[in-house]
Amino acid sequence: MLKGKTALVTGSTSGIGLGIAKALAAQGAHVVLNGFGEYQEVMASVRAAGAAHGIEVDYHGADMSKPDEIAAMMAFAAQRFGRVDILVNNAGIQHVASVQDFPPEKWDAILAINLSSAFHTTRLALPAMLEAGWGRIINVASVHGLVASAQKSAYVAAKHGVVGLTKVTALETATTGVTCNAICPGWVLTPLVQKQVDAKAEQQGISVEEATRQLLGEKEPSMQFTTPEELGALAVFFCSPAANNVRGVTWNMDGGWAAQ
Ligand code: NAD
Repeated sequence: MLKGKTALVTGSTSGIGLGIAKALAAQGAHVVLNGFGEYQEVMASVRAAGAAHGIEVDYHGADMSKPDEIAAMMAFAAQRFGRVDILVNNAGIQHVASVQDFPPEKWDAILAINLSSAFHTTRLALPAMLEAGWGRIINVASVHGLVASAQKSAYVAAKHGVVGLTKVTALETATTGVTCNAICPGWVLTPLVQKQVDAKAEQQGISVEEATRQLLGEKEPSMQFTTPEELGALAVFFCSPAANNVRGVTWNMDGGWAAQ
């Protein structure tokens, strides 16, 4: 379905971004990966996911908190593949503390990585998408783009911002072949969430299993984690012709979290 298209997925060396990158590769898209840590094995796994289509996979290590590095990554992708057809803004970090104790440098980092990076990639990807008459911008927001939780001021503010950016981008592209939508996951068991489970277990002196059960029980009625594979399938749907007129939506996959 996506043969000949190129997807760039920020923060795709791990978790949800990697799941989405593999799902797009399996549909035939070339992929540009981004994120920290080891990436050779990650590249090989994405290449394997798209092996049936002979896709190409590349990597750029831009730090999403740095606009000049983001610009270098977008230029790299355009030079390597002609243009970015599918942009997935996924890179994100978390920090948990009450507002009065929130370290200002963590606030700045979360706003830069979780929100401003999506503005920079979007503004740089849009001209070529509009010229081509087709494009998909998928912002990985969060259920925290729709509702709040205590201790997560920067994250909730950034994710509400991502939802706002999604809607404005969708409106400005509404008469074109470019769409912009947001995915809002509930709990997904990635390294980002495992850290929160481990902290809960340590603070309360309980097992990791009990901390996991409590974490889900507090927010997610299904008592199940959403998986990167399920989120990848939703991203593929947004790229399909059936989603040509899906614009500016915030689609939660949250086990009923936001329905409460
Ligand atoms: P993760 O920690 O597994 O992956 C985060 C990715 O972002 C990694 O590839 C990491 O290297 C990259 N990254 C972090 N800082 C970066 C930076 N400055 N520059 C470039 N890359 C950077 O986390 P995840 O759970 O897969 O989260 C991915 C996205 O999904 C985030 O935006 C997160 O807010 C969102 N999300 C996660 C959950 C969840 O429950 N895990 C729920 C809702 C939304």
